[in-house]
Amino acid sequence: MTLIYDAAPSAAPTLSPKFRVFTTRHLDELLARAGLTPDQRLTARAVATVLPFRTNNYVVDELIDWHAAPDDPIYRLIFPQEDMLPSEDVAHLADLLRRQAPTGEVAAAATAVRRRLNPHPAGQLQLNVPTFAGDELPGVQHKYDETALFFPRQGQTCHAYCTYCFRWAQFVGEPDLKMAAEDVGRLKEYLLAHPGITGVLFTGGDPMIMRASVLSRHIEPLLDLEQLESIRIGTKSLAYWPYKFLTDPDADDMLRLFEKVVRSGRNLAFMAHFTHPRELASPAVGEAVRRIRDTGAIIRTQAPLIRSINDDAVLWESMWRQQTRMGMIPYYMFVERDTGPQDYFAVPLARAQQIFRDAYRNVSGLARTVRGPSMSATPGKVCVDGVVELSGEKVFALHLIQCRDSSLVNQPFFAKYDPEAIWLDDLEPAFADRFPFEDLTSANGSP
Ligand SMILES: *Cc1c(COP(=O)(O)O)cnc(C)c1O
Repeated sequence: MTLIYDAAPSAAPTLSPKFRVFTTRHLDELLARAGLTPDQRLTARAVATVLPFRTNNYVVDELIDWHAAPDDPIYRLIFPQEDMLPSEDVAHLADLLRRQAPTGEVAAAATAVRRRLNPHPAGQLQLNVPTFAGDELPGVQHKYDETALFFPRQGQTCHAYCTYCFRWAQFVGEPDLKMAAEDVGRLKEYLLAHPGITGVLFTGGDPMIMRASVLSRHIEPLLDLEQLESIRIGTKSLAYWPYKFLTDPDADDMLRLFEKVVRSGRNLAFMAHFTHPRELASPAVGEAVRRIRDTGAIIRTQAPLIRSINDDAVLWESMWRQQTRMGMIPYYMFVERDTGPQDYFAVPLARAQQIFRDAYRNVSGLARTVRGPSMSATPGKVCVDGVVELSGEKVFALHLIQCRDSSLVNQPFFAKYDPEAIWLDDLEPAFADRFPFEDLTSANGSP
């Protein structure tokens, strides 16, 4: 047994900040700090009746540049903006708040708006939920042969919410918009019955919101399954609450759990969500990364490309460089999904692949592990490789990084060039009358 986690972290954090959460109850005060007028605050609060809002003292004190707010990218990553929703909806909700309408009336109006925001993209609520012994397994998704996703019930929140989150519908308290698993027992039975599954990906919410004792109740039972090669944890905790791995009461237990997974002969992949280089800058993050890596866990990084927050090649280049320097491995650049305030955040595919290329060509091979821009759509993960001219026609070159039909993985295909296209279902096939995956699905991108 090593004692490395018993030593106090060597670098900066001499402080042990206590996690303090901020919700819509604190919103008005925080918006005032950003210099918003009373009217602007009311509109932002109207948006927050529909989309979830949650942040914490680290994000507020260390990440946001309040002098630059409301244009600051981290501010925009956290705070609701007036134009995230159709203006009639915002006006209506703001009016209800202004009149101090009964909570029930506001909630009903907010629910109606939510239903129009495609709360569950890529059929995440029904399509990929497996059945076992005649029952559905809620909180498990099995879309690609080798990987099962698991959504533990206790991991259904995050240390802070991103405004662009594609899982936002889980956070708004509507039971029928939730995905959650009660226990790991059914998952284990399911895995035993499907020996082709070699990896489990814990996701949420954020599994790292759980205490070490709770997470270990989910992970340890899986370690007797010989078939498992990897356990992944999808998380934004390094960016939003690095003290989880430094000074929280369960920090050392969490690192011991990681070490236990690694010692069992599995790849423990910590899939860290970083949106902006500023999230990598604090000494606390550097120290947390070091401690996680010391357990033998591998940290891979991913984020979506988001207009007005990180739609800039220089920013991605510096993010990938800094991650590589810190020993993390760039993994995916995603395209913002077709849900929630998508129009507000969308970067057209043509521009997205240009940003990707401009960043990618300037980094060394160590960072060119990254792939993208990738759309997680119904048929699979579709990567936009570039724009080319073939037989006099300008087209997008694409390939599937992941597909429910693995025979289609990595086969190039083409779509007509459209500078405005923002998602797979805006695209039309080129040199063919349908896309390769359309044998599986009746229409482009939808089930
Ligand atoms: C991305 C994803 C995975 C993992 O795919 P990798 O290419 O192995 O990273 C698994 N399941 C779903 C539903 C996904 O979207």
